[in-house]
Amino acid sequence: MRGRYVQVAVPVPVRNLFTYQASGSLGLGALVEVPFGRGVKRGVVVGFSDAPPPVGITIKTVARVVAAEPVVSRPMIRMLLWAADYYLAPPGEMVFAALPPIFKKRKAAGGGGTVLVAGAEDSAGERQVLELVGRAPLQARVLRHLIESGEADVAVLERHIPGARAALCALERKEFVRVFKHTRLRRPRVADLPPPGEVKNLTAEQERALEKVVDALDLGGYGAFLLHGVTGSGKTEVYLRAIGHALSRGRGAILLVPEISLTPQLVSRVTARFGQRVAVLHSGLSGGERLDEWRRLQQGDALVAVGARSAVFAPVRNPAILIVDEEHDSSYKQSERLPYSGRDLAMVRAREEGSVVLLGTATPSVESYAHARSGRSVLLRLTERVQQRTLPRVEVVDLKETLPDPVERVHTIGPRLADCLAETLDRGEQAILFHNRRGYSSFALCKDCGHSVKCDNCSVALVHHQKEQQLRCHYCGLSRPVPSRCGNCGGGRIRLFGLGTEKCEEEVRRRFPGARVIRMDSDSTTRRGAVSDMISRFASGEADILVGTQMVTKGHDMPGVTLVGVVLADLGIHLPDFRAAERTFQLLMQVAGRAGRGERAGRGVVQTFMPGHECIVLATEHRFEEFFEKELDRRRQLGYPPHKRLLLIRASHPDRSVVAGLARKVASAVRVEGAGRIEVLGPVVSPLARLRGRYRWQMLLKSSAVKVLREVSLAVMMRLKAPRGAKILFDVDPQDML
Ligand code: ADP
Ligand code: ZN
Repeated sequence: MRGRYVQVAVPVPVRNLFTYQASGSLGLGALVEVPFGRGVKRGVVVGFSDAPPPVGITIKTVARVVAAEPVVSRPMIRMLLWAADYYLAPPGEMVFAALPPIFKKRKAAGGGGTVLVAGAEDSAGERQVLELVGRAPLQARVLRHLIESGEADVAVLERHIPGARAALCALERKEFVRVFKHTRLRRPRVADLPPPGEVKNLTAEQERALEKVVDALDLGGYGAFLLHGVTGSGKTEVYLRAIGHALSRGRGAILLVPEISLTPQLVSRVTARFGQRVAVLHSGLSGGERLDEWRRLQQGDALVAVGARSAVFAPVRNPAILIVDEEHDSSYKQSERLPYSGRDLAMVRAREEGSVVLLGTATPSVESYAHARSGRSVLLRLTERVQQRTLPRVEVVDLKETLPDPVERVHTIGPRLADCLAETLDRGEQAILFHNRRGYSSFALCKDCGHSVKCDNCSVALVHHQKEQQLRCHYCGLSRPVPSRCGNCGGGRIRLFGLGTEKCEEEVRRRFPGARVIRMDSDSTTRRGAVSDMISRFASGEADILVGTQMVTKGHDMPGVTLVGVVLADLGIHLPDFRAAERTFQLLMQVAGRAGRGERAGRGVVQTFMPGHECIVLATEHRFEEFFEKELDRRRQLGYPPHKRLLLIRASHPDRSVVAGLARKVASAVRVEGAGRIEVLGPVVSPLARLRGRYRWQMLLKSSAVKVLREVSLAVMMRLKAPRGAKILFDVDPQDML
């Protein structure tokens, strides 16, 4: 199938492959340098052709072969080209998304050489960042990055944040960071939690599920499974044994998790079981570390890759199984550049590699469950918790009745939740308190004119953070002191309303002075390894109450927890997103699932102003099937997935009128092109009307065939002339509707 010409995927924002003449013989997946425009660029050989070029076109020759050995395997190339086509993405960018970033760069340093690495000093913290934000924004950005990632390769940093090198010098003088040389790149830090106890005998249900998966592994070829196992039913053990089986056959495995730093227990179980054969792909890896792990997999030194959505591209050789844990999690979908779904691509890769794909969750997404219903995947069920443990009994508390003051209602901990917390503490047991909003108060409001303090760059209210005495934007990071006068009417009665995790924590400490409390949210966990530390401290009984955002709901297995409190279940229900009910349902089921995973039974208390709301009732009574039926019915009536398919087009621009005009133009082009074939909703101002200084408009395309949506979009995309500074996102199967 080789020809005279090679087709090269070059990482440029163009939906084309580029044809070159090969000087020698070149294999599929080779990394090359090719003349491009006036310069030279890196690319990957993804195809061949014999067809002579059209008259008048001269075909240039490949300049250099960087690696003749394939950097991307044949099945991966098929998957990546499929993905580029499906998600209307530039194939070169898609292909390079599967490679360590360093591959894009010409004359990139190899893994062995010396690299400069910068890391934040221990003293550097949020406060230093805040001090810098106004005076030296670039330094603030660099410092924030380092605090979050621990350390980073200076060259990589410079590439992501131009000017980072100079900023680092200034930061080093202030002793906020340290720059040092690394010759040998260290192995990435994996969650260092105590290795969990071994599971000797599987439950009958685990046994049955595993058997089906193992049969498929032995049979070879593609097979898709949905493992619907209630919380605490031992899904992880099924994953581990399936991976073990793959390894025993000399094949590899990929395990995807929504966010690796949030699941240290799962990661430590995998590494405890399979040791050096595991490569953990963590977003905090420096460029060199990433390359190291990539090489270990590529060379077959490691056979199991664990990571977030992009680990679907891990160069695992001959993977027998791809597992997607918590498949319902929306973070599998990348929503900005290259909007692909790691979960869906896992299925595509499995098809191309001839392997098994296993989606696991306690709360399947409506789409995946419908797939299983229609026979496109095999449903495996774990209906009971291990060791005859029961699912927690969950009480719903109506806040309308318990909190009489309607104006400045402080709905933190009602009497029933307080009683339960007191009982739990008395018995020496642990509790989790979940509230899905960080910060102290939710917003600052003028009592005279009702004006609220908004972000300058985003159309959202600023959130009050008590510790820093600042108002902060949760989208762009802007921060400023609480104004003493209203910017609208000049009145002096600015008050803080609403409630965040900081205030929950304060309230818990005030009411239970003896209790040891840990707060876990993205403000308290900026330091690398913080989540893992908190979870291991809590799991080992060093604290009594864990307060936090949805971070506390994620799969943690803490046997001492017997009570889960939900401070306000209503937060997400009213979002203008057709999945709002589904997300709320999943969140409630997941958080309740943290209780009663040890010897003592667990219970839950859910506070809400809408005790009768269907998704609250069904979630607290663990009635998944009913929720699914009702939701499916609703989706059918309203024409949402899985009944219809969606494609979201979002335009953004710093200028309000430019984006409005652009959105209208795109919408009418889409309507003309798709006349009679698709339904178009909008264009409308996005619910999040302005983000990081850019105004946003969007429209939603619907059809029962995703192919039609893509065809129409592509035709429009090709003709579209966007004004300077505009961005237009075409998002197939969108998750982010805001
Ligand atoms: P899930 O992911 O389904 O919520 P986990 O996989 O975290 O559940 O398992 C819950 C707990 O049960 C873990 O501590 C695990 O070690 C334990 N476990 C799993 N399978 C068994 C079994 N067959 N017998 C006893 N304990 C088990
Ligand atoms: Zn903002």
